[in-house]
Amino acid sequence: MPWATLRKTPSDRASANLGDYETAIASFSWDQARGELAGFPDGGLNIAHEALDRQVQAGRGAQLALRWIGRDDAVRDFTYAQLTAQANRFANVLGSLGIGKGDRVYALLGRTPELYVAALGTLKAGAVFTPLFSAFGPEPIRARMEIGEANVLVTSQALYHRKVEAWRAELGSLRQVLLTDCAAEAPAGTIALAPAMARAAEAFETVRTGPEDMALLHFTSGTTGKPKGAVHVHEAVVAHHITGRTALDLRPGDIYWCTADPGWVTGTSYGIISPLTNGVTLVVDEAEFDAERWRTILREQKVTVWYTAPTAIRMLMRAWAQDPRPFGVPDLRFMASVGEPLNPEAVVWGLQAFGRPFHDNWWQTETGGIMIANFAAMDIKPGSMGRPLPGVSAGIVERSPEGDIRELETPMALGELALRPGWPSIMRGYLHEEARFRKCFAGGWYLTGDLAMRDSDGYYWFVGRADDVIKSAGHLIGPFEVESVLMEHPAVAEAAVIGLPDPVSGEVVKAYVALKAGLDASEALRRELLGHARKRLGAAVAPKDVAFRLNLPKTRSGKIMRRLLKARELGLPEGDLSTLESEER
Ligand code: AMP
Repeated sequence: MPWATLRKTPSDRASANLGDYETAIASFSWDQARGELAGFPDGGLNIAHEALDRQVQAGRGAQLALRWIGRDDAVRDFTYAQLTAQANRFANVLGSLGIGKGDRVYALLGRTPELYVAALGTLKAGAVFTPLFSAFGPEPIRARMEIGEANVLVTSQALYHRKVEAWRAELGSLRQVLLTDCAAEAPAGTIALAPAMARAAEAFETVRTGPEDMALLHFTSGTTGKPKGAVHVHEAVVAHHITGRTALDLRPGDIYWCTADPGWVTGTSYGIISPLTNGVTLVVDEAEFDAERWRTILREQKVTVWYTAPTAIRMLMRAWAQDPRPFGVPDLRFMASVGEPLNPEAVVWGLQAFGRPFHDNWWQTETGGIMIANFAAMDIKPGSMGRPLPGVSAGIVERSPEGDIRELETPMALGELALRPGWPSIMRGYLHEEARFRKCFAGGWYLTGDLAMRDSDGYYWFVGRADDVIKSAGHLIGPFEVESVLMEHPAVAEAAVIGLPDPVSGEVVKAYVALKAGLDASEALRRELLGHARKRLGAAVAPKDVAFRLNLPKTRSGKIMRRLLKARELGLPEGDLSTLESEER
């Protein structure tokens, strides 16, 4: 069923930050956007300086920067001045440990205040910040710390003991482990952060980084090979700042809730940096999703702008179907969603439940900031990701067999979503992987790996991934990383992993395994494999199901045909099988 366009009113247009799309597109320049930030007199730029120091200097020191709600409902508030002081102390702790510009500081933490302080303090110190998702198992953590040559890890005692301690000594680069929840005595080889923070000075002069100095290292996944460390520089803050204003309609004084975990790129760029540079109050909830709790937070915290994700919206829709009370959120002005396709039903459900629609937007780890969005003042076509941001030039392209790139101008032509490089937050490389990085660019375009279409009004429609990566509950999962762990099990000869559609999580991970000769499939072995994967990879990444096959479909050159497994599982056409090696099923 085609969904009716949701029309915005003249008063929507009058009240939005980006009132008229065409005018904004015509008048926008990245130089002007850069001019809205303070920078340093010598042309330097530092993300944390823009997020904290600039706000304090502008008289916002007493404003609430961060309201943290603990699992047990305890609340901790930090004004901009207090958050700055905490970040300064953290930067001083790093300094006292000999950590400074260019060093790599990793955080493996739940959504605790220390995570926010560590991120901002690291950036102030001129060091590079990398968040790790706390639901990762030891394997993804270790791979990411090895690739990024981590120098410092900030974590909790439980996470350290469960996920890091066993292999820590093998990571030569790792100089310090700071534990956030040790009051005094820290276990051997670690440092208790709280007493170190208490001893550290509250003043710190933010390191004068340059715009091209590395600031953030965010990991993402491809179809093959190890995770990729996307390098982002301080200049990215220009995009974080301005896109928060245009795509999320943020303005000073807003109460803003980004439900993404800072272990992923959205939770850092739009869960820490963008809101603070825009002078808003961040709400952070430590607890996991709970429909009733979310309802209460939205209402009681008087959230004005809410940035969430389709999986969470679908879970709320389910809960609401049982209990369709209005949310009662008169303060809520703008709702946005990112990370996976947002079903048109969910956009329209927003109108019923909240009196306003969800605004879908699109970006990825590599782009560093939102690229395509439904803006507050723009009519929404439910199911579309919206239109490119001012300063962003997008297209739909096709690669010829020779590798030439051709833009597809015909409305609704299916091709790869591509962007013209030139925006400030584009990744500067995949760490140590020049060839993989170069492959993302061709014919003057950055190729996103997503398949999409553009309609005659310039709205973009997501179709799917061009590769085999899986999006489960908004988390990007590389099949290779999962297959490698399954292959480590002594019973496994071959493994292939695909994403299967799921009504709530978007996709769920399913694994296919061929056993070594002489071994028989059994329910006990299936459970053992699931447990093995869960222990090594963590619940967020591990397969939810394992199926046995005599062998897996492969091309004649030996590559496992994941797409064929998926087509068979879903009863879809099997496509071109000319490269398929004969197989026994
Ligand atoms: P990540 O790098 O983990 O943020 O994942 C980026 C990928 O998530 C994109 O390349 C898309 O495949 C998917 N994605 C992000 N936003 C959307 C959206 N609004 N609609 C559909 N897919 C999305």
